[in-house]
Formats: sequence, C-alpha cells, structure tokens
Amino acid sequence: MIDNGWGSIFSIKKSRLGQPSGLRRRARWLLDAILPPRCPACGVIVDMPAAVCGACWSAIAFIADPLCERCGRGFEFTVADRSVCGRCLADPPIFERTRAVALYDDASRGLILKFKHGDGLHLAPLFGAWLSRAGTGLLEEADILIPVPLHRVRLFSRRYNQAAILALDLGRRASLPVDVMGLIRSRRTPSQGTRTRAGRERNVRGAFEVTPECAGALGGKRVLLIDDVLTSGATANACARTLLRSGANSVDVLTIARVP
Ligand SMILES: [Zn+2]
Ligand SMILES: [Zn+2]
Repeated sequence: MIDNGWGSIFSIKKSRLGQPSGLRRRARWLLDAILPPRCPACGVIVDMPAAVCGACWSAIAFIADPLCERCGRGFEFTVADRSVCGRCLADPPIFERTRAVALYDDASRGLILKFKHGDGLHLAPLFGAWLSRAGTGLLEEADILIPVPLHRVRLFSRRYNQAAILALDLGRRASLPVDVMGLIRSRRTPSQGTRTRAGRERNVRGAFEVTPECAGALGGKRVLLIDDVLTSGATANACARTLLRSGANSVDVLTIARVP
C-alpha cells in the first residue's frame, strides 16, 4: 500500500479527538467490508481510502530534486542548491517559485480530469496530501493560500472550482488561511487551448482582480497560489501580477501537475 499521507490526516484527528472509539473502528471496518476503498485511477480495491494502487503510483511521473529554484522543472544532472535554469534566466516569471507534484501526462491527466469535471471531489484528500509534500518549503513560508479563480459563468456550469477545493484541503493540513473569494476572474477568457505562449499571455492579461477586502489584507504577505495544472505559466503570471500590484510581497505557485 502506498503511504499517501492519510496516516498523517488520521494522526491529526486522533490528537484532536483522542483515540478513535471502538465504535468508530467497528463502523470503519463495516463500511470497508461493504464498500471497500478503490483506486481512483483504475478502480482496483486498495487497503486505505484516498490512495492509488501500486501500479498507478508507479505510472505517475512524480517530480523530484534537483529542481530549478524558480520554475520547478527537474534538472537532469546534479546542481548547486537554488540553481536557476536557462529558461528562467532568459525570461524570469512574475511569480517567484512554482512546484508541482507530477508531470502532466497520460497517467496524471485522467485523475485530474476526473477531479475537475467528473464529480471527483473524493480525490481532494489524495491531492491535498500530495500537494503538502510537493509544497515543502513554499508552505512553511506562505502567509495565505489563494486559488486560481474561475469566471462566475464557468463556476456555475462546473459547480465547483477545483483549485479552491485543493486550497481548502491544503489550508487545513498546513494550518494556513485560505481566501477563496479575494482573487476574481473579472473577464471571461476563451480556453487557452492550442494558443502560443504569447497568445496565452494576451488571453489572460487583465483578466484578474483583487477585491478591496482582500487587497486590504495582502500588504507584505507571501501568497501561495493554488491550481490543478500549470501549462505555460501565463495564467499563474497574470494572477501573480495582480496580487503583487495589490500589495502582496511575493507569489509562489503550487499545482498537482505541470506540462514538462
Ligand atoms: Zn490503480
Ligand atoms: Zn526554471
């Protein structure tokens, strides 16, 4: 069984609530016997809820050190701490650092699309545990978590903002405040789709605003922006620019997956 952080969630609950009662243990055993937890990727029965099976775990391309200090892309060779890649030196992002759990490929795409479009809210604890590990270093320095917002029309059709669900789960784990309403997408933007990088930047430029209440609380704060996937970084850059103009001290970005 893959240790995906569920144990740490359970230990937090135990420390708050005391040892699980015999009744609760029996209820959990009964529930598992009737509805055994399944791997959210392939559906095989697993030992614990919110866990992927060993085969699906092996297929996911988790991103590991050594990484570019700014964009979080992996280096293929050993580098000094805090090294920055050629891409970031040539064209530094607006945000300070970004980290992602895994590469956005066939293995991670299915899980993320299920979470985004398929009523896959049960995936939130799995992703929250993964994000809390990938965000080590960023979370310790963050003052507040802010999700990348959806435009209200898209929010209505999707019913929930997947980035907000991730931020709320992560906020509970990291004991950090989450502002899900402070950053808003004030202009509806067509899908980033197959646009070029410059096209993506034009598409989201000026699309975000910070509410006066949020701006009043942002002064000097280190913001950790949360999203599901980082593609070109254009959306993260546009959000970071808006947050910095509204008084944030710095903006880091944490996502489940990123395009290589
Ligand atoms: Zn599986
Ligand atoms: Zn880089």
